[in-house]
Amino acid sequence: MFDTIIIGCGPAAMSASIYLKNANKKVLIIEKNAPGGKILKTEKINNYLGFNEEDASTLAYKMYDQTNKLGIPIKIEKVIDVKDSIDKKIVTTDKNKYEAKTILIACGRVEKPLGIENEDKLNGHGVSYCVKCDASLYKDKIIAIVSNTIDDVLYLSDIASKVIFINNSNEIFSIKRDNIEVINNEKIIKINQKDNVISSITLSNNNEYNISCLFIETGYTPNIDFIKSLNIETKNNYIITDDEMRTNINGIYASGDIVYKKVYQIINAASEGALAALSIIKYLNKE
Ligand SMILES: Cc1cc2nc3c(=O)[nH]c(=O)nc-3n(C[C@H](O)[C@H](O)[C@H](O)COP(=O)(O)OP(=O)(O)OC[C@H]3O[C@@H](n4cnc5c(N)ncnc54)[C@H](O)[C@@H]3O)c2cc1C
Repeated sequence: MFDTIIIGCGPAAMSASIYLKNANKKVLIIEKNAPGGKILKTEKINNYLGFNEEDASTLAYKMYDQTNKLGIPIKIEKVIDVKDSIDKKIVTTDKNKYEAKTILIACGRVEKPLGIENEDKLNGHGVSYCVKCDASLYKDKIIAIVSNTIDDVLYLSDIASKVIFINNSNEIFSIKRDNIEVINNEKIIKINQKDNVISSITLSNNNEYNISCLFIETGYTPNIDFIKSLNIETKNNYIITDDEMRTNINGIYASGDIVYKKVYQIINAASEGALAALSIIKYLNKE
């Protein structure tokens, strides 16, 4: 039996695994795709402490390499169910069953796409789902954003030469900034490209806008399907934890983007992974 099974292998998971391994706990990471998580979905990271304009895949690799050198095992399998019984937790994947004393859920969330041509292909090449992460890469450029709120639009207007705000809500916003153009009641129907990089968008009124980046901020879906049977307390499908990353279920913890919180960045995912691990170590040592 493992002391802890960690579901997901993004920054929250890898950070936790290092603390658990250093405390001599028997830990297993289960990841359905590749180690790195959402970091692998972006091109450059320029806001993670200690890394200056780091190539994102290099950062993901460095994190993985650190866990690998400590001998932390990673299974590439998809978790499909987690059961809680009195003395153990049972994790079922598409290939195996595993048992552990504790579970850390660190499986992140997925962005809600617009579902239009080229969106997926240009993700990381001018299409982005994270304003706070990628805006600084497009300083003084023309940026478009489709969003339900104006917070990110105002954030972008401090950075870009011009912001084209495609309002995805029914609300009419009054914005008094010269470099923001608000477009109501229109949808993006085409994302156009040149040399595999975004070049322009076409709207439902057939107007075309030349842009350097399109931000899509229409929401996320937390990856919680496989824990439905646990009755974990959630809000808007995000897991609720206390300040030690404990869920309402004894021995089950959560960290990173799957948690209900205000900021969704690598630095706090890693920090919450560390917090969860220290909390788990305390729990295991009291058994
Ligand atoms: C386009 C983009 C750019 C970004 N840029 C930045 C940036 O510049 N700076 C910054 O700080 N943050 C950035 N972020 C946010 C950052 O990537 C996330 O906050 C961070 O990766 C969250 O870490 P995590 O470990 O919680 O989850 P994730 O990184 O999402 O990792 C979760 C892992 O769980 C796995 N998983 C999910 N379900 C299962 C399952 N059933 N079984 C097994 N494994 C499963 C997933 O495959 C994934 O690998 C960006 C996000 C996006 C989308």
